[in-house]
Amino acid sequence: MSNAPERPQIGTIDWASKPKRTQEYYDRIKQKFAEERDLRLSYRPEGTKQYTYDLDGSLARYEIDPYGGEVTPRETINDTVECLFIGGGFSALLTSARLREYGVESIRIVERGADVGGTWYWNRYPGAACDVVAYDYLPLLDEMNYVPSRHYAKGPEIFAHCQAIAKKYNLYELAIFQTTVISTVWDEAEKMWNITTDRGDHLKAKFVICANGTLSKPKLSKISGMEKFKGHSFHTSRWDYEYTKSDLSGLADKVVGIIGTGATAVQAISGLGAGAKELYVFQRTPSSIDVRDDWPTNPEWAQKLKPGWQAKRRAQAKAEPELTEEQAAQRAQMSPEEKLRRQENANIEYMMKIHRRIDEIVENKATAEALKPWYMFMCKRPCFDNAYLPTYNRPNVHLVDTHGKGITEINEQGPVFEGNQYQLDVLIYATGFEVQKTGIYNEIRGKNGLEINDKYRDGIRTLLGIHSEGYPNLFIMGGYQASFQFNLTDMLQAQGDHIAACIDYTRRQGYQSIDATSEAEEWWVEEVIKHRGKTNRNQECTPGYYNFEGEFQRRQDGNYNGGFNKYCTNMEDVRAKLEENFAFTRK
Ligand code: NDP
Repeated sequence: MSNAPERPQIGTIDWASKPKRTQEYYDRIKQKFAEERDLRLSYRPEGTKQYTYDLDGSLARYEIDPYGGEVTPRETINDTVECLFIGGGFSALLTSARLREYGVESIRIVERGADVGGTWYWNRYPGAACDVVAYDYLPLLDEMNYVPSRHYAKGPEIFAHCQAIAKKYNLYELAIFQTTVISTVWDEAEKMWNITTDRGDHLKAKFVICANGTLSKPKLSKISGMEKFKGHSFHTSRWDYEYTKSDLSGLADKVVGIIGTGATAVQAISGLGAGAKELYVFQRTPSSIDVRDDWPTNPEWAQKLKPGWQAKRRAQAKAEPELTEEQAAQRAQMSPEEKLRRQENANIEYMMKIHRRIDEIVENKATAEALKPWYMFMCKRPCFDNAYLPTYNRPNVHLVDTHGKGITEINEQGPVFEGNQYQLDVLIYATGFEVQKTGIYNEIRGKNGLEINDKYRDGIRTLLGIHSEGYPNLFIMGGYQASFQFNLTDMLQAQGDHIAACIDYTRRQGYQSIDATSEAEEWWVEEVIKHRGKTNRNQECTPGYYNFEGEFQRRQDGNYNGGFNKYCTNMEDVRAKLEENFAFTRK
């Protein structure tokens, strides 16, 4: 798959015994998956263009930061630092920690929000939490000597962890908040990046790290008449607590609607159901919802942890073999078709388990049917939540299933679907984000003045998803052509470690710049193409941001899918031959 993270376990694939069900059973379900996908594609042939990403004019308010308060007036800044991060989320924080370990003193974060935290700064909707086990997800736990309070940490704890990292590594000192980088231009004579911001700053930096995150810019579905709505409305990543109040008591007498049922909405809906007078959920495609196995951290367990426990835990997870020797031997005897069939059948079994769970929990049969996802596991971001499904048993919560069509019309009073008017006081857009775009909000011009997205016009070209030839001393984090882990911070840490090591080498050797060679870049583009996956899953999946909404994509424009371990090994190989893979210059 293209955007998809490496998948979490879906249960054991039975490589040994004969299937318990007929193949016809699985084929029928696969056929239904295909029909549901085709239905959605027929409604939205425009693919990613169904969304609006440039929120300006009457839509600009959906992007305004409700958390940072008034923008504090300040003098413009015109100075030089050694390392400049565009964005202050986990990418910047965990890479800065490594740079500090190498003795880099001059580090600046330029951040659009009023604090560090990135995702966890912006996403403060009620119920925000991480779906990845906190002991794995929160980075730098060893360095910070911190054990998360729960198995699955909630948003405020993760945000506080970001702030603690910034404090420990002294990253607030040079940081510039409430500021957006608008251009980053390489000066070949000076061997320096010139950065301008929307606050009139002219900054210089020797090294620039694009740490603007994978899902940073809120997007809205293009819905006819949406600007006419007279009630209150906002995007989930700009939650208006002034209106809803922190305990959502502001919604107690309000009729609320939410558009979208992705991972964000799934976390927010149980709180909204409990807080609002009436809640209407406008669903286009249901998410898959499994059990959330959450508990508070056992203090005795935490006390026994030895220094370095997180690094060990991550290394162990990487080292775990996928199959036992016996399973591997049985698998080796199978034809490629049989292997694929067994994988797909196991996937279908898992999805049918998700369906059964819905039947067990949701009392209204029509609602239960509508909540069933008809696609392979991992076609969309899987969700783990215990409160979401029971919320539909509340009398004040109403599922408006649009069966793949989506809401296409909004008027002064609210959404209209199939002739029914939904009269709302508040409309919440849980419609997601622009995906993995390098230079989001920012124009990046390299050695020959070429904007990086123009360089990518005929296909993305990078080395490891991090370096791009012609853009010396520039490093990209969390972008395409890199591996994509379900535990994203593990991947970001691997990239951060690599970037810090490259910068350290460049400094120690007294070089002014490091730039990927075109040969190294070509090698990596070919690796990405070679590892685009062996199945047609991308086309077979229901549309969503994982598969570019079903659009045709050039083969190199997704993630590297050779596996995280192999990605890390490739990185090590590149670092072992830095002088071969990069062109270095002295002044
Ligand atoms: P998504 O892009 O996943 O979801 C957008 C939702 O809006 C989809 O359900 C989509 O339907 C729906 N939609 C769009 N247009 C319309 C319309 N016109 N009418 C009705 N519905 C519409 O965004 P999210 O913010 O939910 O999640 C983004 C990502 O953020 C996640 O995939 C995950 O990676 C991350 N996240 C992680 C969490 C964690 O725990 N770690 C928690 C929350 C988010 P359709 O499916 O049909 O396209």
